Amino acid sequence: MTLPHPRTGVPFESPVPAGVGWPGDPAVPETAVAVNPRQVAKLAATVADIDGLDAVVSVCRACPRLVAWREEVAVAKRRAFASEPYWGRPITGWGSPRPKILVLGLAPAAHGGNRTGRVFTGDRSGDQLFAALYRAGLVNQPTSVDAADGLSTNDIRIVAAVRCAPPGNAPTPDERSTCEPWLTREWELIAPSVRVIVTLGGFGWQSALRLLADDLPAPAKPKFGHGVVVELPSGRQLIGCYHPSQQNMFTGRLTPAMLDDVFTDAKRRAGLPG
Ligand code: SF4
Repeated sequence: MTLPHPRTGVPFESPVPAGVGWPGDPAVPETAVAVNPRQVAKLAATVADIDGLDAVVSVCRACPRLVAWREEVAVAKRRAFASEPYWGRPITGWGSPRPKILVLGLAPAAHGGNRTGRVFTGDRSGDQLFAALYRAGLVNQPTSVDAADGLSTNDIRIVAAVRCAPPGNAPTPDERSTCEPWLTREWELIAPSVRVIVTLGGFGWQSALRLLADDLPAPAKPKFGHGVVVELPSGRQLIGCYHPSQQNMFTGRLTPAMLDDVFTDAKRRAGLPG
């Protein structure tokens, strides 16, 4: 059954096949599909640029549990989105291919990124994140609703450590390891321009420590905390930020003002104009 995209009106199946016109779909029907960890590592090692990486990530099927979950959610849907098609595929990084600031989160939400096809788009966490990024002057609009809403940035790139929505927002250690070559390759491609890495939550922090293993001061395992800044020998800086989850925002553990402080600081440290 096809349903119309909420902005473009073009009908799509759920999950969305590769290369059928979904806004921002980086893949074509011929894009190579990784179906096991070895193929993820092999494909990740061979892509030459961000566009090529986004294409192969967006069709990956290497984690059987996550593929089944993302597609099951895409078909069942949440009642509020029952009239929409769901992307139901992995979520690529989003933003500039030459960012000054990398924002690293955990994994897409079942009815957010897994529905809209864009990271942190269409869920409560994304509402808080993009509102803060807009207040900091890092994106062009305060909302992130769907993949055709005109959101843009020159300065940041947002990625999830695990690219498929996991049940209970909890990927297994094996799933994290299977997905890691995508993140590692993305880091290799964007690292030359990146000055600041902001991690959202402890999972993102641990992923960042693995990515930056060769660029950590001794002692090598700085602890995650909100507002913690680690100065790296390369001159880059790693900043911890609580995840803008519904629970953290509802309980006041994280406030909009705290998010503003992090992104204002990140922007200053990245050398971007205020
Ligand atoms: S989590 Fe990563 S490795 Fe696993 S299927 Fe999704 S994109 Fe592929």
